Amino acid sequence: MTEKLPTIFLKGTAASPGIAGGRVYYLETGKFRLPQHSLGAEEVEAELAAFRRALEKTEGQLEELKERVEKKLDADQAAIFGAHQLVLSDPALVEEVEARIRRGVNGAQAIAAVVEELVEMLAQLEDEYLRERAADIQDVGNRILGNFLGVSPTSLADIGEPVILLAPDLTPSETVQLEPGRVLAFATAAGGRTSHAAIMARSLGIPAVVGLGEGAVTDLGQAQEVIVDGNGGEVILNPREKDWAQLREKEKEYRAHQHQLAFLRELPAQTPDGRRVRLLANIGSPADLGPVQRANAEGIGLFRTEFLYLDRDSAPTEEEQFEVYKEVLETMAPHPVTIRSLDIGGDKDVPYLGLPAEMNPFLGWRAIRYCLDRPEIFQSQLRAILRASAHGKAQLMLPMISNVEEVRRARALLQEVEMDLDRRNIPYDPRMEVGIMIETPGAALMADILAQEVDFFSIGTNDLIQYSLAVDRGNERVSHLFQTFHPGVLRLVQQVIAAGQAAGIKVAMCGEMAGEARAVPILLGLGLDEFSMGAGSLLTVKEIIRSLPYHKAQELASQALDLGTGDEITAFLEESIGDLELG
Ligand code: PEP
Ligand code: MG
Repeated sequence: MTEKLPTIFLKGTAASPGIAGGRVYYLETGKFRLPQHSLGAEEVEAELAAFRRALEKTEGQLEELKERVEKKLDADQAAIFGAHQLVLSDPALVEEVEARIRRGVNGAQAIAAVVEELVEMLAQLEDEYLRERAADIQDVGNRILGNFLGVSPTSLADIGEPVILLAPDLTPSETVQLEPGRVLAFATAAGGRTSHAAIMARSLGIPAVVGLGEGAVTDLGQAQEVIVDGNGGEVILNPREKDWAQLREKEKEYRAHQHQLAFLRELPAQTPDGRRVRLLANIGSPADLGPVQRANAEGIGLFRTEFLYLDRDSAPTEEEQFEVYKEVLETMAPHPVTIRSLDIGGDKDVPYLGLPAEMNPFLGWRAIRYCLDRPEIFQSQLRAILRASAHGKAQLMLPMISNVEEVRRARALLQEVEMDLDRRNIPYDPRMEVGIMIETPGAALMADILAQEVDFFSIGTNDLIQYSLAVDRGNERVSHLFQTFHPGVLRLVQQVIAAGQAAGIKVAMCGEMAGEARAVPILLGLGLDEFSMGAGSLLTVKEIIRSLPYHKAQELASQALDLGTGDEITAFLEESIGDLELG
């Protein structure tokens, strides 16, 4: 069957290393192409009947799902589908859609618009229970719309045997459902190296290519088999026998290199002339700890806690959060675990938290801004972190800081929680360090002042590049402008490291730049203390550090900073790495 389909070669952004091939699972959730026509009077009755059929079909699917989950004795999950069934008889949805169809709006547009309005309305309510229903309405709405249009709703939960996932895009809540055993690799039309799907892929060790371009969507949707090369950024749809042979060859080489790097596990991240730095890992959940331990990371430099909030219908309780933080702290002890407070908003929408649609979500109500406006949510997380701090070496990290007041307000809220724990005799680490991410240009430029307020900095280059170069990090149309080695970016990084050194505080980096082999000479040379990255990059970075004398890295950094374009700097760094004697 595969022979009949044309072989198509696509080039995208190498997002997560590794190579895999296999059967395609195409995921298209939540996005439907809506017909644009309006209805003539004679079409209304048929459209209403089609809408009712879609409701019935949805009801049947939900009943089946509920029974399937009940068999697995997962009462919570089953209850979700029960709640979804209730939505189907909600007059706010059903009657409103019918009214619009009667006014001549085609069924698909009527469903989509009513669902969107309901979701927005519910998401803004004070009442937590009602807010949580926004996610239910969205899910059920997608199902009804899929049934109405005759497009079967697909979900990552349906994946049985191992597959390669292809999709126009993956939302953060879809990404959290990825399981390495079932998804061997994935490729998407949208996204860049620092979009969250790419980041998650790296922490899970799933090979991935993103940013194949909008033009690739149709081809992705029709492919039956695929090879994804996450090292070279290549995707081959419907490969031929010789492509499979090449895949096996490349896989062998890749594994051999990984094997070679394994001896570095036990060796320190130290230059030949004695400069010692620390290499830590980024994680999104305890499930990522396996690769972290295999790479022998010296701690967690970024725990993206928002992933605990995604792919569910209500916020995690303090207790749930405490258990997760405690597990990570105990697993990593005595090494530090840097727990980042909730960084939602931007591209991470969490329907039940009441985030409204915004014109510029990356510049909007995001991260620390949201937390300071919602102290009850923020303090519940802070309490969980503090309580967990009694079980290992926790550090708190605040994201998206753009001024001193945010740091002071966050610290005041933290202090309130500490006083409350004191009163109740609940143990915590009173010396837990508090640091901030430097990911806005404003913060980078005033790092000397911010350094007086905190125990450490961690440079978040994914956002720092996005904001300083005004390039949306997830938009593949402008991904060529997202330059890690843009001279402006490097000057900001240089300034932050220098400010931290002058103030005597530790400077780390947890943006993707820290795991880039080519970035090592500059970061090492500028004096970065800690590199935190997806576990898969750790040994490669260590190998370079162990081959590059510190004084040489300082020279290279200063030469690179004298160059005028990102391309020149990139070429210069590639050459410098090429000159090293690596294994
Ligand atoms: C960053 O912005 O560099 C960062 C590490 O945070 P995130 O990628 O989660 O926004
Ligand atoms: Mg960030």
